Amino acid sequence: MSSIIQLLPDHVANQIAAGEVVQRPSSVVKELIENAVDAKATDIKLIAKDAGKTLIQVIDNGVGMSVTDARLCFERHATSKIKHAEDLFAIHTKGFRGEALASVASIAHVEMKTKQAQDELGTHIVIEGGKFTSQEPTVTPMGTSFAVKNLFFNIPARRNFLKSENVELRHVIDEFQRVALTHPNIHFTFIHNGSEVFNLPASNLRQRIVAVFGGKTNEKLVPIQEETEIVKIHGFVSKPEFAKKNRGEQFFFVNQRFIKSGYLHHAVMSAYEGLLRDASQPAYFIYLEVPPHTIDINIHPTKTEIKFDDEHALYAILRSTVKHSLGQFNVSPVLDFERDPSLDVPYNYQPEERTPLIQVDTLFNPFETESKQSTENKNSSFRENSHFKPSPTAGWESMYVGLKQDTLELESTLETDEAWVSGSLFNDTEIENKTSHWYQLQQKYIICPIKSSLTIINQQRAHQRVMYEMFLNQMTVKQGGSQQLLFPLSLYFNAHELSVLQELQPALHQMGYDFKIESNQVMQVFGIPVRTQESEVSSVFERLIHELNQGIPESSYSQNDFLAKSLAKSLAIKNGTYLSSEEIENLVHALFACKDASVSPFQKPVFITISVDELDKKFNI
Ligand code: ADP
Ligand code: MG
Repeated sequence: MSSIIQLLPDHVANQIAAGEVVQRPSSVVKELIENAVDAKATDIKLIAKDAGKTLIQVIDNGVGMSVTDARLCFERHATSKIKHAEDLFAIHTKGFRGEALASVASIAHVEMKTKQAQDELGTHIVIEGGKFTSQEPTVTPMGTSFAVKNLFFNIPARRNFLKSENVELRHVIDEFQRVALTHPNIHFTFIHNGSEVFNLPASNLRQRIVAVFGGKTNEKLVPIQEETEIVKIHGFVSKPEFAKKNRGEQFFFVNQRFIKSGYLHHAVMSAYEGLLRDASQPAYFIYLEVPPHTIDINIHPTKTEIKFDDEHALYAILRSTVKHSLGQFNVSPVLDFERDPSLDVPYNYQPEERTPLIQVDTLFNPFETESKQSTENKNSSFRENSHFKPSPTAGWESMYVGLKQDTLELESTLETDEAWVSGSLFNDTEIENKTSHWYQLQQKYIICPIKSSLTIINQQRAHQRVMYEMFLNQMTVKQGGSQQLLFPLSLYFNAHELSVLQELQPALHQMGYDFKIESNQVMQVFGIPVRTQESEVSSVFERLIHELNQGIPESSYSQNDFLAKSLAKSLAIKNGTYLSSEEIENLVHALFACKDASVSPFQKPVFITISVDELDKKFNI
């Protein structure tokens, strides 16, 4: 039999490598910006069009390349950064594989201009789908400019696989931020579709974090610092009361490289033990320096996961460092020595200071064995927010006689919310008198004895169901009412978060949220849904962003469904909330006016019933 093995032609090998290196426009952004950093640039400008699908350009003022290097850099395994295998254990640059440019050039149109300081003229190269189409001398400033156009032009399958512009833009912003946070001493600019998203002058680390995440960030930060034999740690963690619902602002950098580590995250979270309420997440920007030979950064193609020699020690040191700083801060907040007063200025003109919505659980006492019931919810949304008007005609006994589904369908499209949640379908007035037998157990369950059975309703899930159907109704049938705020509310989000909210703006508008995105960090809210409280808005949005980070539904149907679910989850009364008998009554009536009262929007049972027969059995009667 003849031999069948042959070497792949370079352009095929490059395209295959590209599959690993370039998943989406943001991967190109990462590679180009990192190359600029490696070239010792002090000023790096990123220009993108259509989230990078049409154009990604990175202009730097770094060392540039000679004519020969300009040509060579597009070859596979062409790198100036390592020479020997041992160098892999002493990496001080971002890149070292020498495959990024070859990969990018094989799946896009690339134009490069580059010049070294000592040269009169620079080099201009055009390369399309891996083929050089021109190379000539050119007049260009010192440094390098890469323009990558029409990414995946020769791999339509990959191109079609890309997500919406907003999703891709968020990935680009993520990559940009990671490098910008690693190198505060470099001036970074990002211009997207002609408008400036970031302009980050060279500064110290604290100023850089504030410039990326907004002026309000400054007051949240507590510095951390530790130096041991195996690791040096510096950076910032957020004060517990500023913890958010989402994990967007958590960063680890190891030897100037952004990494992800569930293990180290756990170490940080354990340092916050007892200081955070619910599932809230602190922000952190933690920079670790370890001897290069004690880590392996080569285990993952996109290099965001690394292996440490001594993970356990690192865990313990990190945990105690964070804990120590938090403790110090709690004792004497004024000792925040690194505070830079100039940073406080830009946002002082805001009309009023808003207290953070997610606060430290002041009732929390680590030494108390039985934790107190949270009373905070007593004043929360439920009362003001209640969608349940007492409906004297509404009984609910008929749930046992097979719900009149048709009537329910009709009810849900009625003109007003009130009519929608009550309605006249239950006429049994006899049962009304018995609602006084309904009561709340453990501020969690509503117990309703009825005829020959006992119904036990979980209050949180019941309210989620009621709100879910109401929100869906508002989005699809009847626009929700909006109350205009006397003073517009300024909310601060980072660019990534704002782009999520922008995408949801039409649907949120339907529900009564009237807002405008002012700049890359501020959003002005002019109107909110009736019966919603101003103080809830920011946490509602935070939760939305958090959940959307897990993946954005593409169709508008599922987007509405998603929004309704998320809002229902944020706004529904929680277990642990005391309910008056009127509220119990309203909730139960509203629940059984729902299309599907039996399950929560998250497919969990809302109530159970126990018949007297079953009780009899248990008692052996
Ligand atoms: P790597 O970064 O892993 O070495 P790349 O394919 O990204 O591989 O780049 C190949 C080489 O091209 C680099 O090693 C570097 O010498 C040169 N290079 C790439 N981008 C720049 C730039 N912006 N300025 C100067 N040299 C660059
Ligand atoms: Mg590189």
